[in-house]
Amino acid sequence: MRSLTVCAVICLLGTAVFAENNAESDPTPTLQHFNPEQADRSLDPCSDFFEYACSKWIKANPVPADQFGSGTFFNLAKWNVSALHATLEDAAKATNRTPAEQKAGDYYASCMDEATINKLGIKPLQPELDRIAKLQNKSQLPEVVASIHQIIRPANLNFIDAQYNGVLFGIYAVPDFADARVTLPALDQSGMGLPGREFYLNDDDKSKEIRANYLKHVAKMLELSGETQRQATADAQSVMTIETGLAKAAMDIVARRDPKNLNNKMSLEQVQALTPSFSWSHYFAAMHAPASPQYLVTAPDFFRGMDKLISSEPVDHWRAYLRYSTLTSMAGFLSEDFVSEQFDFFGRQLAGAKKIQPRWRRCSQNTDADLGEAAGQAYVAKYFPPESKERMLQMVKAIETALHEDIDAATWMSPETIKLAHAKLSAQIDKIGYPDHWIDYSTVEIKRDDFLGNARRAARFEIDRRLAKFGKPANRYEWGMTPPTVNAYEDPQTNTINFPAGILQPPFFDAEQIDAVNYGAIGAVIGHEITHGFDDQGRKFDADGNLKDWWTSADAANYDQRDQCIQDQYTQDVPEAGVKQNGKLSAGEDTADNGGIHLTLSALQSTLKKQGKDLDSLAPDGVTELQNFFLAYANVWCGELRPEAARTAVMTQGHSLPRYRINNVVANMPEFAHAFSCHAGQPMVHANQCRVW
Ligand SMILES: [Zn+2]
Repeated sequence: MRSLTVCAVICLLGTAVFAENNAESDPTPTLQHFNPEQADRSLDPCSDFFEYACSKWIKANPVPADQFGSGTFFNLAKWNVSALHATLEDAAKATNRTPAEQKAGDYYASCMDEATINKLGIKPLQPELDRIAKLQNKSQLPEVVASIHQIIRPANLNFIDAQYNGVLFGIYAVPDFADARVTLPALDQSGMGLPGREFYLNDDDKSKEIRANYLKHVAKMLELSGETQRQATADAQSVMTIETGLAKAAMDIVARRDPKNLNNKMSLEQVQALTPSFSWSHYFAAMHAPASPQYLVTAPDFFRGMDKLISSEPVDHWRAYLRYSTLTSMAGFLSEDFVSEQFDFFGRQLAGAKKIQPRWRRCSQNTDADLGEAAGQAYVAKYFPPESKERMLQMVKAIETALHEDIDAATWMSPETIKLAHAKLSAQIDKIGYPDHWIDYSTVEIKRDDFLGNARRAARFEIDRRLAKFGKPANRYEWGMTPPTVNAYEDPQTNTINFPAGILQPPFFDAEQIDAVNYGAIGAVIGHEITHGFDDQGRKFDADGNLKDWWTSADAANYDQRDQCIQDQYTQDVPEAGVKQNGKLSAGEDTADNGGIHLTLSALQSTLKKQGKDLDSLAPDGVTELQNFFLAYANVWCGELRPEAARTAVMTQGHSLPRYRINNVVANMPEFAHAFSCHAGQPMVHANQCRVW
């Protein structure tokens, strides 16, 4: 996945929330279809549309004990895992299997073999721990770090929003900001176990409590790995010192949103000058990474800070840090004691879940994470018919047309900028469902009785695949999400929008529903992704994916003024999370939400016109087309996060919480006021209605 990829939904799912326990019954959720009757007609839509559209759903769907939130979105994610699970059970048992079925099926079977995993305990990871224990001199750090980077899941080596939970630093392949045709090695800040740098730096009571509990968790993990309690307690303190040092050196999440701040291209000599204590030639040699004339160093100060820590912290502190980082990265593949402890901190304390998900769910998710394009083949064959792809493509085209029209109608842009905006939109590639060419995993050895070995070999395969891209032309057709994922993304550097098959199911996409409902639900997601190409980040990239200013200065100033309106509006207290939202952090997502719904509404209007209808026509369910549209929009965000997860989300990622994704957006729209006869002065009619697109 690329550094600037922005997703539609919520990026919290990648964290270590999923751990282990007893196999309890877990009913397969059913797909939920939109129903306008879900609205609570006793409430006033103009006073709080979220409550009007969602409160009945929320009451009927409390957060399950093993989840950190509820929502129609969560429900679909659960359904997808169940669907994937069915294909994996088949693949694990079948005799006449395709190569992809063998890999995915045997990987899944090895994960389900809990008896073998528990019997082995820490043993499968012992060679790595021994290598770390032998670290005698800090000059050996590059080789040891490389050996760890070759076994942990490569997703941990790039970042998800503000979550940098890899080991020491991140490494991934990224298109050159100046020339997106060329792939560069990127070196990024990472190495922090908590969900963001603010978790180390903030001084409020909640942050202090989380850090105190984290220290206990680190000590417990080290103790489980064989350290004495005394040693583990001391080592946990060293881990905290190093991670806090990395957090202090790391770039702030808002500064990272400006690609200019990340665009630091350096030769190997220049990279080396940042860290006299860490030999990059030794590291890259140990990684077997191809040489590159240039490297992208996203945060040079982070690497300067890392170097200071290498100098100041004694070698035994580094052994403790690497030992814990390796344990936490691999905990999900170890015996139940590790899995439970990992869940207790990351699942229970940080995300508020009450119990662990059943093992089959976690094993299905692991297979998806490690061999996603093998596991995904059977999923799309069974659950994503070609007709869905066709109808989706038609909607994407209609919504792109709406943006072309919107660009033409923008009185605040000059003809020069308008022309280039059209060129950028026309050059965008729309990817629907799944890749045209699947990744070939034939060289990854997968054994039915070696779960951790399978995970390690899959990680090695994936990191090698990424390193091999250094210096090569970028591939715009690759995917950064697996097919069953309930999410979508826009990538400004490949100029693509991407919709995995997992989100093209009810209630987002529903072949049985009328156009107003599909345009309100998946249409808003399509519009959201298209708008990302023209939000405060996306607009800085041109049609070819290069970071290039194609705006006249007057047009850029007009853009910034409109953007400021959105930023001010979303800089708000979020009582349910106990923290304040920073509108500068969420500006891109909020702009995409607000722009996306305008585009999809305009596409719906054109579609209805062709059918001889308009937005005020009554749909077969007796509700107007426009009311159905807004109810369907709200429906996909109905739900809530546990307070712990809400706090992490507001602090570390750009998406507003569901309540604000609904209410702030509709209150900016005269069309909403028209649909529900709201008038000026009511909460769902902003006095100052913001509009970028
Ligand atoms: Zn987004």
